[in-house]
Amino acid sequence: MQNRRKLHRGFGLLATLIFAGCQSTPPALPVQPGARPPLPDARVVAIHEQAVFADMHAHPSRFHRANVESILADEIELYRRSTIDIVVANISSDMAYDGEYTNRDGTEVAKGQYKPAPGETYALAADRLQRLWKTVELGYAVHADTPGTVLEARHNGQVAVMPALEGADALEGDIENLYRMHANGLRLIQLVHFRNNELGHTQTWPYSPGGLAEFGRQVVVAANRLGLVIDLAHANEATISDVLELSTRPVIFSHGGVRALTTHDRAVTDEQIRAIAAAGGIVGIWPHGRHLKDVAEMVDYMEHVIKIGGIDHVGIGSDLRGVSRYVEGFGEQANFHAIAAEFVARGYSDEDVGKVMGGNFFRLWQRVAATDHAAAVGGALPAQ
Ligand SMILES: [Zn+2]
Repeated sequence: MQNRRKLHRGFGLLATLIFAGCQSTPPALPVQPGARPPLPDARVVAIHEQAVFADMHAHPSRFHRANVESILADEIELYRRSTIDIVVANISSDMAYDGEYTNRDGTEVAKGQYKPAPGETYALAADRLQRLWKTVELGYAVHADTPGTVLEARHNGQVAVMPALEGADALEGDIENLYRMHANGLRLIQLVHFRNNELGHTQTWPYSPGGLAEFGRQVVVAANRLGLVIDLAHANEATISDVLELSTRPVIFSHGGVRALTTHDRAVTDEQIRAIAAAGGIVGIWPHGRHLKDVAEMVDYMEHVIKIGGIDHVGIGSDLRGVSRYVEGFGEQANFHAIAAEFVARGYSDEDVGKVMGGNFFRLWQRVAATDHAAAVGGALPAQ
């Protein structure tokens, strides 16, 4: 594991050296012509020059479930045209229990109820993490190792991929597995997904009253120390409030809606928006086509977060390739610029549009990553 990590680090350095000399010419990717988002207009280009753009939650190329060796070049190209600098690439590790994924040999695991053997859930997630490293090795994207790495990649016209777990089931209740995954590039951790796990309880049916479990507490403390971003999406109210009480760093709720405007389970109440914002965190709104009609309605949701929590506490979590339909104007080609354009049309300043497009997330990550511990040991394993 350590050797492999060094290998990847070595590659990252190599890539840095290669691309350092050609800052205005991004590497050519082997992409097919197809549905692509339009290039940004001059105003959005100017906004992007001042702010990092981020997609706080996605499954690009459905890399976690499909039989692909990496995120595909076309998908990265789509993000680059959208001037998204950071893509949080999520491995839904609870799929070991729920199925609906394809193995490397092409065999399909149907949706169902499974009881994975010890080590199996971790192995499945580790395999998907390897696909993200393959994306980096192929030169399609850069690993979002540190905020500095992302700034450098963006300067070179490259997209950075931030490895994440959606549901920390893969840890299998062993904190050592968190250290291993962090050492292998994990930078964000969503505690629960569609099943109650060793960490906490979910927001969706079947509802349960429990909050953050003892292992969840260990993970929050360790994530704070390691500089890992904590994501509360899919967590129930008790789990969210327990984490807010315990975490010494701001957290995100990466993708969902707001209860004030929808009855859907995957939404946060005004009280939760206030609490997340008060702790310096961010609520991300998704362009989910089954819950929202178009980009204007998505921006209505984002404006609600702004009204309750403030302009510094909202962001975007596209859930790209994670849901079946996207709002009009965003669509399959993931037109992030349509969101920026809608904020511009509503009279927001360049600075504020930059914040909602990802500047807020980048600032939060800088705060989370700047741990005393990370400074002391270079973000590696905790000395304990
Ligand atoms: Zn989700």
